[in-house]
Amino acid sequence: MTLDGITEQADVDDDAPSTVVFDVGEVLIDETRVWGVWADLLGVSRLTFASVLGAAIVQGEGLQAVFDHLAPNLEWRSFEQEHEDRYGGFREEDLYPDVRRCLEDLVSLGFSVVIAGNQPTRRRTQLEALGLPHDAMAMSEELGVAKPDPVFFDRVLELAGNDEPEELLYVGDRTDNDVAPAAAAGLRTCWLRRGPWGQLQDLPETAAEPDLVLEGLGELATLLTTWRGETT
Ligand SMILES: [Mg+2]
Repeated sequence: MTLDGITEQADVDDDAPSTVVFDVGEVLIDETRVWGVWADLLGVSRLTFASVLGAAIVQGEGLQAVFDHLAPNLEWRSFEQEHEDRYGGFREEDLYPDVRRCLEDLVSLGFSVVIAGNQPTRRRTQLEALGLPHDAMAMSEELGVAKPDPVFFDRVLELAGNDEPEELLYVGDRTDNDVAPAAAAGLRTCWLRRGPWGQLQDLPETAAEPDLVLEGLGELATLLTTWRGETT
């Protein structure tokens, strides 16, 4: 695990964030099943799909680029309902194994926990059914705006009931959708380097350095407590 950034922040106790906001995909939820179902829908092996998705990510492209390569002339949104029917929504097995403990620890340590990612509204119900500790939760569809739009982060502040962006830490796996726009909106940032985007993306040269760079959530509660100037 890398702990880049914490040494600069460890003794700045009154600057420590009081609210931790979690992205959903590849932060809370392992999306392996999501992409596996897309591979099945397109009739290619999961390895092939994952390889083409990785190439699209490196080239700064989205899911449509994967379709354009594997199934020319098809528009991914026309398969969205069929994908959802096969996928069936989030399950306990989709949670990264460090998630539940991290959220429980943060709540018990007095941090406010918010969940807000680029997802359809139905994902909130699915996440609520998993019983994750949290103080507030909303998906981009119900907020009416998606990352990287700066208005998304205004909505996150409203959701958190906190108008001081530097008191929020946004935890995300993507530099383009999470780390860069959250920092631009004045939030503290934690870049979680897991999943396809977390592994493959680089930080844009113009983006502020994240406050934390982690490979998992196992150390987050301890790091934030240290940042707050306390010992665990
Ligand atoms: Mg994500």
